Amino acid sequence: VTRSVARPEGVRLAERVLAVGGDDLPGPLRAAVVQLGGVIREQCPATGVLTQGGRVTAVQTAAETFLADAVVLATGAWSALGLAGLAAAPQIRPIRGQMLLFKLAPGVLDTILYRNGLYLIPRRDGHVLVGSTLEDAGFDKSTDGATRQRLHAEAAELLPALAAMQPVRHWAGLRPGSPDNIPVIDRHPDFGNVFVNTGHYRYGVTLAPASAELLVDLMEAKPPALDPAPYCWQAALERTW
Ligand SMILES: Cc1cc2nc3c(=O)[nH]c(=O)nc-3n(C[C@H](O)[C@H](O)[C@H](O)COP(=O)(O)OP(=O)(O)OC[C@H]3O[C@@H](n4cnc5c(N)ncnc54)[C@H](O)[C@@H]3O)c2cc1C
Repeated sequence: VTRSVARPEGVRLAERVLAVGGDDLPGPLRAAVVQLGGVIREQCPATGVLTQGGRVTAVQTAAETFLADAVVLATGAWSALGLAGLAAAPQIRPIRGQMLLFKLAPGVLDTILYRNGLYLIPRRDGHVLVGSTLEDAGFDKSTDGATRQRLHAEAAELLPALAAMQPVRHWAGLRPGSPDNIPVIDRHPDFGNVFVNTGHYRYGVTLAPASAELLVDLMEAKPPALDPAPYCWQAALERTW
């Protein structure tokens, strides 16, 4: 399907939407963190915090304790769990999204297609991403055959070339769900040197730059460039699902 080919009724072309993600993001982000002197520990879950006088002094993992001047809770869907000694962020809930990936020849699809919550996102190398579901299924990242078939059938209605193909990948991720898709970006109410940046739900990639800017302004006690009111802890408490 190209822009010149007739498309099924109700399908929107998102020609001016830029697609990033997949394998594009982690490498450059990692390099930027390392270049700024950051150290990345993988497979090293934080389990709890040590506190003293209204401040967190250290973050604990199974193997090590990291002393901390400031701490950011940015554990996505898992910020709904908090850590031992650190209360969870309000109203966060894991919302599962299942996706399929197809491999076509480059250029078969050259623009994002969207209809009724289903989207097809082409990558330059011919891969086409099909998504997604919104499932309130707890911390369960499993996938299922019925959803695979449904996504495949709906995708083939938008792009018939997919009908005869099998997806090369089917997987699920957990979004940090929040009422109205509004993140919580604030100082933690229990500790002066703990900040939260979570609950970005369906738009965490899109919202990342502005969220980081607000977070840093709050951490550095600068007048924030963005109005922080909608994102504060108390506002999140008052929203309902
Ligand atoms: C199918 C799907 C499609 C999506 N499409 C889009 C889109 O098109 N555009 C968009 O903007 N967003 C999209 N999103 C949403 C986006 O992925 C999320 O909003 C974003 O990833 C949230 O970022 P985060 O860093 O807060 O959480 P995450 O990306 O979930 O990162 C949190 C990290 O914290 C780690 N962690 C958890 N607990 C601990 C612990 N105790 N100690 C240490 N680390 C821990 C986790 O392992 C994880 O790596 C999509 C999500 C899904 C699932």
